[in-house]
Amino acid sequence: MKSRTKVVVIGGGIAGCSTLYHLTREGWTDVVLVERNELTSGTTWHSAAQVTNFGMNQTMVGLKRHSINLYKELAEDPDYPINYHHGDGGIRLANTPEQIQGYHHFASMARGMDVHFEVIGAEECARRHPLISTDNLLGGLWDPLDGDIDPAQLCQALARRARKAGAEVYRNTPVSGLTQHKDDTWTVHTEHGDIDCDIVVNACGYRVNEVGAMMGVHHPVASMEHQYFLTEEIAAIRDAGHRMPLLRCPISDYYCRQEKNGLLVGFYEQDCKTWGMDGIDPNFVNALCPDDLDRVTDVLEGAFARMPALMEVGIHTVVNGPITYTIDGAPLVGPIPGKRNAFCIIGLRAGLGEGGGHGWLLAQQIVHGEACYDTWCLDPRRFTGHANVEMTALKAIEDYQNEFRFHFPHEHRPAGRPAKTTPLTPILAAEGAEFTVVNGWERVDYIKPAPDFHPTLSFNFDETFDVVAAEVKNLQDNVGLAEVNGFNRLEITGDDRHAFLDRMMCGAVTKRNGRVGLGYLLNHHGMVKAEATIANLPASDRGPARVWYGSAAAGEYHDMDWLQAHLRDGEDVQIRSLTNDQTILVLAGPRSRDVLSACARGDWSREAFPWLSVRECFVGFAPATVLNISFSGELAYEIHIPNASLYAAYLALRKVGEDHGMTLFGARAIESMRMEKGFLHWKADLLTEFDPFETGLDRFVKLNKGDFVGRDALMKRNESGLQKKLVSLKVDTTEAPAHGGASLMLQGRVVGTITSGGWGHRMGMNLAYGFVDLEVSNPGSKMLLDLCGELVDAEVIAPSPYDPDLSRVRS
Ligand SMILES: Cc1cc2nc3c(=O)[nH]c(=O)nc-3n(C[C@H](O)[C@H](O)[C@H](O)COP(=O)(O)OP(=O)(O)OC[C@H]3O[C@@H](n4cnc5c(N)ncnc54)[C@H](O)[C@@H]3O)c2cc1C
Repeated sequence: MKSRTKVVVIGGGIAGCSTLYHLTREGWTDVVLVERNELTSGTTWHSAAQVTNFGMNQTMVGLKRHSINLYKELAEDPDYPINYHHGDGGIRLANTPEQIQGYHHFASMARGMDVHFEVIGAEECARRHPLISTDNLLGGLWDPLDGDIDPAQLCQALARRARKAGAEVYRNTPVSGLTQHKDDTWTVHTEHGDIDCDIVVNACGYRVNEVGAMMGVHHPVASMEHQYFLTEEIAAIRDAGHRMPLLRCPISDYYCRQEKNGLLVGFYEQDCKTWGMDGIDPNFVNALCPDDLDRVTDVLEGAFARMPALMEVGIHTVVNGPITYTIDGAPLVGPIPGKRNAFCIIGLRAGLGEGGGHGWLLAQQIVHGEACYDTWCLDPRRFTGHANVEMTALKAIEDYQNEFRFHFPHEHRPAGRPAKTTPLTPILAAEGAEFTVVNGWERVDYIKPAPDFHPTLSFNFDETFDVVAAEVKNLQDNVGLAEVNGFNRLEITGDDRHAFLDRMMCGAVTKRNGRVGLGYLLNHHGMVKAEATIANLPASDRGPARVWYGSAAAGEYHDMDWLQAHLRDGEDVQIRSLTNDQTILVLAGPRSRDVLSACARGDWSREAFPWLSVRECFVGFAPATVLNISFSGELAYEIHIPNASLYAAYLALRKVGEDHGMTLFGARAIESMRMEKGFLHWKADLLTEFDPFETGLDRFVKLNKGDFVGRDALMKRNESGLQKKLVSLKVDTTEAPAHGGASLMLQGRVVGTITSGGWGHRMGMNLAYGFVDLEVSNPGSKMLLDLCGELVDAEVIAPSPYDPDLSRVRS
């Protein structure tokens, strides 16, 4: 066994084998995999091993397409061919128009990745899958490339290729401990000796938290028991002359594929069960949980009704094994929060279909620092402090129960809520607030017109349209108040704070005390990594001179890791998070200055406190820090208040607000207004797949200011010119907003992809942002948007259509 290597991958299921293979493909061959037993002896060996193409976003579709292409290549390798039924096809069934509409959206989204789904009617479903009845069926989504693979052969093939390239695999070698050294390298302790390495990867399946504990972290991953059975031969299958396509059923929660001349049917029962919550028997190896078909009778009935042939055939094997879930159904693939040189590829619940792609994206992150796609939907840092073991289990159960039911826009399911709240949450609930969830925080979405107001889940504009319009209107004419909780706020102190931030940002962000600026952070490839509002506060009785770094709530762990990783030895910079201690009240609208002036002493005039200023004060008697900045495009103040004083500040503002026609507004109103202003959202419009010039952030880049992270790469990219451009679009329909991922088409060709969309209530315009090919990026360029299967006209417009010269913000 080697005593020193570059990377140790722990775990030899599909996750570990795929990572090891892809590390060698990316050029790192001095790498090792250690497995406590035999390869695939965790979950992988007994997987139903269906390989599908369907994903909820382009990253998922892209990585699954990679799996399929890779598996095809492996299957066709004459030296070591493996069993892969490639291209049996598969159908996701639907019995409501809303599901069908959703499938049309996913087809539009996948087309941008050159993956082609088809939405088909009930009769066509039955033609392609002759065993199914069309009762209570509207149609389905056809995926021509679905199939299934032999999981053990797949892992062996990957390990074999990795070994050929120079990697080593140590079986029957349990990892018993991990030690991280001062220089951030690791020693991996095993029963057969220690291995020193630069980087460790946790790929331990359901034992993820045994190895997590060895490095002092808890991963938000929980296991569920999951069952399928295999039937005897079915004559209709034997005689069909073709293989049966896969089936996924959101109506009755089962899946099904052909196995020999019978069927394999798997269940997602409502009466489901977590597994291993209080520890896992160390001898649970190549093992299964006891059969429990009684638990799945609810789902069985649905499967029997859809496929009557099942009622007449015997069951010869039942498989019940642990399957891992996270709190949003997607795995955790990337850097482990708060740790250096430590990565994970865990929480895979469709690891055979996805594993090829996840290993590929993880290896790219390890070797190059970033993958070819934006991997935020997989990033382990997307969950923060709320993601504990109990919350994870609740979400795992909910997700399991809804396995094939996709989330509609604005849908937030109830399990594990409320997770993060402020003292105002119950107050705002009593005011009629409906909440959305942002990084676990309950954030006001809009104020309900009636307690029993429940908008339809749909891809169309819903019943909140007029509610949001009214919130925007009052804000535009008078003044509105919103709580924005969970906003990521880092306090940066020390003499070198400005030099440090200057190195991290690609522009020249103000260093003047009392002033605020917006800056962008790039990665080492010159691509957009993060966005931050920088507020410079002078020394006061509240602390030394400091910078407040503000960014999206979801960026809490991500931004902290990125900043910490770039601190230099001896640099006088301290970073501390205030995210969970302070909350913002946003006061916006032409009368917001009147309200603020009436509750906070001082001169708040345009001259004394202009746009992009920051000042400490008291709102009533609540200590506050006020920024004159606006995400709405109206005169606005962000008032940052310690949570202990939040209610006091709220009462003061509400009392004065009564005289100024103040009403509450929520996230949907903010979303509408930021679309009109050309303001971008991190991880919707600001992605690591694009550089700041492609993203239209030219005015925030200063290439000649000296060195900064990503500068050299950006200069190089700049020489070869833009590939894509982010544009604002006007969409010609009043039926539905453009949804992220939807394709923009010209003469049958995809020319762009939507990142965000929504109705601009002040403009009376359906607006969207999208990255488009250069030749269609000029204002006036016309194209078609595939909006849930309907082709509607879309036209590029100048950015920031509402008050483009910012006269209202500066008023
Ligand atoms: C019944 C069932 C049906 C399924 N059907 C499908 C399907 O149709 N399609 C699909 O895509 N997915 C399916 N899945 C899910 C899929 O099987 C899993 O997502 C996948 O196998 C997980 O792989 P993994 O590598 O993450 O974990 P595992 O296969 O569990 O591998 C983890 C490995 O880590 C090793 N390990 C643990 N601790 C240590 C340690 N301390 N030291 C060294 N090694 C260690 C373990 O021994 C194990 O080999 C199914 C799952 C189940 C249970």
